[in-house]
Amino acid sequence: MSLKITDRTAEKAFFISRELWEHPELSGEEHRSAEFLAEQIAAEGFQVTKGVTGLETAFVAEWTPVRSADKSSDGPEVPTVAFLAEYDALPGYGELSPDGSGNAHACGHNWISAAAYAAAVTLKQAVEEAEKKGEGRPVRILLVGTPAEETWGGKISMCREGLFRELSPDAVFEAHLSGQPKHCFTNYLLALTNIRYTFRGKASHASAHPENGINALDALNLTFAGIACLRQHVLPGTKLHGKIVEGGLACNIIPDTGVMDYYVRAPKKDYLEKVLERVNDCARGAALMTGCRVEIGRDENTFYDMRNNMPLNARAEEHLRALAEADREAAAAEGRDFAMSGEIREDDLFTAPSGDIGNVSYEAPSFYGVFSTAPVSGGADIHDREYLAVTDSEYAHHLLKLAAGVMASTGLDILTDDCFRAQCREAFLKQDP
Ligand SMILES: [Zn+2]
Ligand SMILES: [Zn+2]
Repeated sequence: MSLKITDRTAEKAFFISRELWEHPELSGEEHRSAEFLAEQIAAEGFQVTKGVTGLETAFVAEWTPVRSADKSSDGPEVPTVAFLAEYDALPGYGELSPDGSGNAHACGHNWISAAAYAAAVTLKQAVEEAEKKGEGRPVRILLVGTPAEETWGGKISMCREGLFRELSPDAVFEAHLSGQPKHCFTNYLLALTNIRYTFRGKASHASAHPENGINALDALNLTFAGIACLRQHVLPGTKLHGKIVEGGLACNIIPDTGVMDYYVRAPKKDYLEKVLERVNDCARGAALMTGCRVEIGRDENTFYDMRNNMPLNARAEEHLRALAEADREAAAAEGRDFAMSGEIREDDLFTAPSGDIGNVSYEAPSFYGVFSTAPVSGGADIHDREYLAVTDSEYAHHLLKLAAGVMASTGLDILTDDCFRAQCREAFLKQDP
């Protein structure tokens, strides 16, 4: 059975989406947004714990039916579904920023929060309906507020602190918008690590006494040259890109300090470590060639690739088709000039980004549904300036109903269909390490 979200839930979700969109906050600073979303879900009867895993703008909201609450302590494991919300915005949108801060929701994380909210509430309503019919059973529904997706990846820190192991969801759901022509449920996300190389040399007069200098800028250039050669010898989907942060102060001084930041991305997290060693060797080699010392600093958070759970994705796809068909019929009856499409595309490794849900997908069966705004985004895609209007559009609001419906329906199957739940778990356990 595919669940449709009610008009009341839709109205509240649109309100949430718009409220967050109008007050965009950057990674780790989403105080107002997290507080607001937590308030909204608490009003639906969820118990909210704020500041989980030591992150001020992270929270867990939990709902369990009253009748099942007392059974949950010593009974068999309680089927659990978690919906993930993100709410950080992006900087640098100037006059397009709705509140004049320069920040904006060009990645649509306002919509992600609203879709997660609507899915959680819709699933809760379905469980309550079943209870009324005497078909209740102990279950748990979670809405997890996750900060800083755009930068250091709040979910990575939350995974490291053991939050998802502790919550132990049977399935995790998140939806994202995209300007791509069709929806996509089986997505590539590349593993990613972020490195800083700092070369220390020796300053001297660049013309009078260059023989006394040790050139840290040369070390940067040679590192870039080494990586350029390495590029031919890595697996498809590996991406190497970076920038110079500091490369000298004046033309007449041999630069004694050179700093570069570099991203290494790879199709799998284990392969990422192998490529990283080669990239580090390029920096070490450059240090040796120039006589510099090199310091290698690695960011604490490594983004993992996405482990797609095929049984989960296949079931979500069935619900997508059913809900899109229902929407098509409704559009015809209402005389609406658009209907949601149920068309799915295959993802492409070569255009894959990275995302912190990848780390969650190593902790629990995870669904990451990307929903297409193509009919209204005219070729623009997330992070584009033109995309900002899309993330708060009428169409995005309508699409939110579809996304929330797909996630709530698949979530209901997880809670009520023991065989399906076991199938998703089995597929999860069978995946590569
Ligand atoms: Zn983004
Ligand atoms: Zn995003």
